[in-house]
Amino acid sequence: MAKAIYYGKQTIDQRDVDAVCEVLHSNLLTQGPYVGRFEHDLAAYVDAPYAVACSNGTAGLHLACMSLGVTQGDEVWVSAISFVASANCARYCGATVRFVDIDPTTGNISIEALEQMLAHTEYFPKALIVVHMGGNSCDMQAIAQLCQSHSIAIIEDACHALGSTYHNEPVGNCRYSDCCVFSFHPVKTITTAEGGMVTCQDPKLAKQLRQLASHGISKDSDDWSYPDPAPWYYEQQTLGYNYRLSDLQAALGIAQLHKIDDFLQKRRAIIVRYRQALLDNELVNMQQITVDSSSAYHLALIQCTNQKIRQKIYQALAHNHIFCQLHYIPIYRQPYYRELNSTEFNEYPGAEAHYQQALSLPIYPTLSIDEQDRIITVIKQTLCPYLQIAN
Ligand SMILES: *Cc1c(COP(=O)(O)O)cnc(C)c1O
Repeated sequence: MAKAIYYGKQTIDQRDVDAVCEVLHSNLLTQGPYVGRFEHDLAAYVDAPYAVACSNGTAGLHLACMSLGVTQGDEVWVSAISFVASANCARYCGATVRFVDIDPTTGNISIEALEQMLAHTEYFPKALIVVHMGGNSCDMQAIAQLCQSHSIAIIEDACHALGSTYHNEPVGNCRYSDCCVFSFHPVKTITTAEGGMVTCQDPKLAKQLRQLASHGISKDSDDWSYPDPAPWYYEQQTLGYNYRLSDLQAALGIAQLHKIDDFLQKRRAIIVRYRQALLDNELVNMQQITVDSSSAYHLALIQCTNQKIRQKIYQALAHNHIFCQLHYIPIYRQPYYRELNSTEFNEYPGAEAHYQQALSLPIYPTLSIDEQDRIITVIKQTLCPYLQIAN
């Protein structure tokens, strides 16, 4: 039986194993020197002044919302197509979530839909959370322009987009946003098993993020409300969480980040091959990438002309032990959000179209050419009878 292929997978080599083992043999498994080093390396990579490590991308999104003051009574607007964590982080803060439609050709928030919502709303959101779908950067300049006059904070959910660029600058530098959040889950560009990072430009925001990720505790005497010279003194100043990354994970992250150029190059080569093989017909399309940008290609997103073609492709691949995914079911369709918002699905034509058409084909650095050929052959065979009808 042929080896099963999944849509995503981590790439681990001996250097990663050695890096983790070194920490295991050291004195500190957490809160040692590696977390700071990883933060430093990642900040340098995305060209951001500050980076705060955290336990996962979801925690990073929660920290971003909290640090930007999102609270009960606020609204947070979220791209309708994303992983549920992009919306849940606002709910953790007690805010109401409203969804913004997407452009099904890019998978990203629709600038027109956002503009319309802003023009017709009575109540402006505290924050907007945009998602760089599959690594394809949103048009951040246009988004920032729309949000600026209403003082809406912008959070980039860049969990797919480590290694992506926008206007020839790295996603994560926060030129057009307040915070940018990365995830190091095994399917993402680099992994720490579980892990995340929030980048920002504002030193006060960075301090907030750091404090909230560690119980709300401050060890900096300049910040204390009741200064005390005792060497054991510290203050808990706000209600924070234990959202820290461990040194074990950070060491893995540092080792992984060294290899990111190779990972990205392999992902891009896979996309080139999919494009060459699949774009010769009108039944299948591939995600359109924002101008002057490059994607880290977390996903190999295709769009099928209709649900039936997609279902056939999915089933034929699954029959051959190749397992695709749909990224994502529109968040407003989840029972939890249906109950809260009583959404009319037809308010989101872009997200509904995406939901009918999208499929994520396997992509990860170690996917071999033979394996990719297996995938392409199955898709081609599946499309064949429909092409004849179409002609
Ligand atoms: C992976 C992911 C998250 C959550 O990251 P975790 O590290 O798994 O918590 C959030 N948003 C998007 C778009 C993601 O893909």
